[in-house]
Amino acid sequence: MLKVGVLGFQGSIEEHVCSLSKIEGVNPLVVKTKKDLEEVRGIILPGGESTTIGKLLHDFDMMGVLKERIQKGMPVWGTCAGMILMAKRIVNQDKTYLGVMNITVKRNAYGGQLDSFKRMGSIPCVSSHEIPLVFIRAPWIENVASDVYVLSEVDGNIVAAKSKNMLVTSFHPELTSDLSFHKYFVNMCKNY
Ligand code: GLN
Repeated sequence: MLKVGVLGFQGSIEEHVCSLSKIEGVNPLVVKTKKDLEEVRGIILPGGESTTIGKLLHDFDMMGVLKERIQKGMPVWGTCAGMILMAKRIVNQDKTYLGVMNITVKRNAYGGQLDSFKRMGSIPCVSSHEIPLVFIRAPWIENVASDVYVLSEVDGNIVAAKSKNMLVTSFHPELTSDLSFHKYFVNMCKNY
């Protein structure tokens, strides 16, 4: 069984675990400690509140060790707040968190909770069919470095990108029944 982690401090943890558990051969593990982290082949950083997850990563002394594993090549997928944690630059904010991916993100770029929305989108390298994209107080990516590959844009804004072992999405595939993104990430883990 392939052990894939979900960072277990705050946010849509159970939803990611549920999606992963529907994929054959995958054993999802909620990661809260260094020991948990050692056991997984890759990790999902869920959506939630980046300030809260960032604080807990720090308080539980997980920031440094997680950053190190990512820099050594462990596959990581940040959804929404998870993407903010991974960004090297955050618009209007000096504080960054893991700062591993060469992107600039804008928090709450679409507005507040009431501006959350759902859209169908085509992301050919992830799925041959259109997939539902759910945005909740979502960030977008303002710009990417040349080694970052843009996977998806919605209305001219970048909402999914990949660079080496790092995948980020503004939206929440774990809140839909579509497993395309989870399967795509599981393949990244298998190849690691
Ligand atoms: N607005 C949140 C933040 O800034 C992210 C929202 C989400 O993860 N759905 O962290």
